[in-house]
Amino acid sequence: RPRLFSGMQPTSDSLHLGNYLGALVQWVAMQEQFDPIYCVVDLHSLTLDTDPKVLRQRTRVTAAQYLAGGIDPARSAVFVQSHVAGHSQLAWVLSCITGFGEAARMTQFKDKSARHGQDGANVGLFTYPILMAADILLYDAAKVPVGEDQRQHLELTRNLAQRFNSRFGQTFVVPEPYIVKATAKITDLQEPTAKMSKSAESQNGVIDMLADPKVVAKRIRSAVTDTEREIRFDEEAKPGIANLLRIYSALAGESIPELEERYAGKGYGDLKKDLAEVVVGVVEPFRARALALLDDPAELDRILADGADRARQLAEVKMARVYDRVGILAPQ
Ligand code: ATP
Ligand code: MG
Repeated sequence: RPRLFSGMQPTSDSLHLGNYLGALVQWVAMQEQFDPIYCVVDLHSLTLDTDPKVLRQRTRVTAAQYLAGGIDPARSAVFVQSHVAGHSQLAWVLSCITGFGEAARMTQFKDKSARHGQDGANVGLFTYPILMAADILLYDAAKVPVGEDQRQHLELTRNLAQRFNSRFGQTFVVPEPYIVKATAKITDLQEPTAKMSKSAESQNGVIDMLADPKVVAKRIRSAVTDTEREIRFDEEAKPGIANLLRIYSALAGESIPELEERYAGKGYGDLKKDLAEVVVGVVEPFRARALALLDDPAELDRILADGADRARQLAEVKMARVYDRVGILAPQ
């Protein structure tokens, strides 16, 4: 079975609906036909200034949500990035074949560093995509299920794999992004042209998977729409309504034309009320499963240790090969 790699950052106390629909749902579905490695990418989240205790807790919370969403540790290796040294090791090697200008073109860096101001951004935020390339190439992943925001980073990963292969000989599989268009960009409910994001400045437009169902319902009901009345899917003219329909369709398994027909002549309030029920119906049991897993941290840690063992075996073989290729003298 072809290898799959993906990960999420432990940058908040909960995954949000965009992470769930854009990534986690895909991860679960792909367990059947692939050999997946699902990582909590804690090293990536050091680019954010987080309290150490909070980061540790969020790392477990993120892993628990993978499992709550349906990741089966018997099929998928679930582990914490920093537990396998190869990620940082390969990132360094790859950074030495990445052009400065090439890295500077990454739009996520531009967006995120703009929020910090010119000097506030750290170098880790700049080299982030190289660490991400290392995560993927370390395991010869053939496919990488991600949201639309990661497309450019995947392109860089492919370029680095090809460059390394042509310079040093065939070493890495060149991965393909796996992006499901319908759910690749869930937008912020208060700012429906921007992606829903863990590190968004205001959390009012974010639906957290571990939130109190009452808060979830309220955020759906207060979603920004437009001054028309008609419920139809029009990304350009009606991004708020389009987002609500997209979420509804994905969670309820009904097509958008079906929904447009059902809500013909009805008001935005009706749509929001029904959608709030649909979302709560998913979030509530998800939250209960995650909290139950967090109640037994020893079991969770055992799953993470087992996943790290499996990943480490692959990573060590790959790193030895990479070091050999570039001319690192093996320790005797
Ligand atoms: P941050 O703002 O801290 O970068 P994030 O919300 O982007 O957080 P990540 O951990 O960086 O979350 O991303 C995890 C996965 O979720 C990635 O595959 C990413 O593409 C996907 N993803 C993130 N936001 C969305 C979204 N709004 N819609 C669909 N997929 C998303
Ligand atoms: Mg992100």
